[in-house]
Amino acid sequence: MLMLQGVVGSFALSTWLIFIAYFAWFFTSGKDYAPMARRDAEILWRIHKQDAECKSNKWQEIRHKENIVGFECECGYRHLQKRPITTKTHP
Ligand SMILES: [Zn+2]
Repeated sequence: MLMLQGVVGSFALSTWLIFIAYFAWFFTSGKDYAPMARRDAEILWRIHKQDAECKSNKWQEIRHKENIVGFECECGYRHLQKRPITTKTHP
């Protein structure tokens, strides 16, 4: 009986460790993403098209929770914004 408790205890402990590791990863990786406006994502997509000489005409935003954090090009290229965009959008 004591041995069974030990097995259950170690199982619970490892489950907890996985749980904590997962949440630590979830929160730290979530913080890395920087939200951007849809327009900014489109500008970055156009830069990608020039850089990669990409001929695609479609892209879609990648969302993290409610925020746009990057884009995915039709060619399969994905960009995730890790830091806030500091460029001014005034003409
Ligand atoms: Zn592309």
